Amino acid sequence: MNANVELRDVSKHYGRIEAVRGVSFDLPAGETIALVGHNGAGKTTLLKLMLGLIRPTAGTVQVLGEAPARGEFEARRRLGYLPENVAFNPALTGREILSFYARLKREPTAPTLRLLEKVGLEGASHRRVGTYSKGMRQRLGLAQALIGEPQLLLLDEPTTGLDPALRLGFYEIVQELRDRGATVVLSSHALTELEERADRVIIMNRGMMVADGSLDELRRLARLPSRIRLTIPAASMDAAREWMGKKEGWRDVGAGVVEFDAYHDRKLALLRRATQEGTPVQDVDVVPPTLDELYAHFLRGQEAAE
Ligand code: ATP
Repeated sequence: MNANVELRDVSKHYGRIEAVRGVSFDLPAGETIALVGHNGAGKTTLLKLMLGLIRPTAGTVQVLGEAPARGEFEARRRLGYLPENVAFNPALTGREILSFYARLKREPTAPTLRLLEKVGLEGASHRRVGTYSKGMRQRLGLAQALIGEPQLLLLDEPTTGLDPALRLGFYEIVQELRDRGATVVLSSHALTELEERADRVIIMNRGMMVADGSLDELRRLARLPSRIRLTIPAASMDAAREWMGKKEGWRDVGAGVVEFDAYHDRKLALLRRATQEGTPVQDVDVVPPTLDELYAHFLRGQEAAE
């Protein structure tokens, strides 16, 4: 077995709704994959197929070498799942909830309870979950998903409700798991946040996979321009506005910064011109297309094709 997850031409229909259409991909060990798409794109359906909660209408799903929708799916113990709307019995404490899930997964309780420290809930572990904030419930959900050091971790909108510091802590945990060889799938709308975290991005739209690759690969495929930003000293701004007026596509974005778009093949020449001796440029930044921009690009491409 090479990959932890193998999907081959998988479709899932609910009556006339085609939630997933002809999707194929391999997810190897030690990779963090961002699964992105609009509401209803098919992300949760893909996660449920990998978990064996639903069966594909067509195609095959293999997870850790087994077909997950079969009754005796042994690999289930090596999966961690954080659902989008995590809900626990409010009358139980954090410790009780984790112990309960540890028993379900046939995992020892002591290491499981240490997960409460990992997600910063040790101080609240004896409190009833009904008194937890949304962020605390989310962290308990994450601890639950981490029980038994899963080889495949499926996280649906995992950082919803987490403040920036907790979010950082969350991604550190993800990184640790990935470094130990787990496959981590993050389904999310928070594209900017995923940009620096995911090794690979799978973009879904209306049930179809419209792009799959590392951010660099997607950038090469999309051939979108980079943005070149020049910082101009205040005294030279008027002069800069004058040359900008003569050039199409230059924008004054305020705070002494002007920017323009440059396609890959023109980037160096434009940069040389903009920074040649005599120009009043104080600083230069080259900003490659963001995941948001790539996402919009690939979606437009599919909509046009259909
Ligand atoms: P979101 O970002 O809103 O969570 P998603 O990408 O996870 O969206 P899915 O939940 O996979 O999207 O849904 C894909 C499509 O399948 C939607 O049109 C949805 O309404 C439909 N769908 C999902 N589950 C069912 C179901 N059990 N019965 C009927 N239709 C369903």
